Amino acid sequence: MINEGSRKKEDEYFMRLDIERMRKQQEELKKQMEAQERQRLKDLHYMHCPKCGMHLTEVGYKGINVDKCFSCEGVWLDAGELHEITKLEKRTLDKIWEIFKP
Ligand SMILES: [Zn+2]
Repeated sequence: MINEGSRKKEDEYFMRLDIERMRKQQEELKKQMEAQERQRLKDLHYMHCPKCGMHLTEVGYKGINVDKCFSCEGVWLDAGELHEITKLEKRTLDKIWEIFKP
């Protein structure tokens, strides 16, 4: 036979488990929402100019691809591209400038 004291302890135990489960569900929901929000922002901003919001066009020259905005004339580089550009000869850099200048 279960006495009153141990029944209360049992109830508390299950309540704690429930609360822990609900807390985990909430955490999971939060993570899902954060992932959805990150995806939404990526969909919204991907290949859009960070300054004016217009579409970017990828322009490639000598193995270097830069994202060009033909609205505000901004030029955007992916990770590593700035380093690649610094390896180019002056003559090539001048040609790139000729292509990309407004
Ligand atoms: Zn722009």
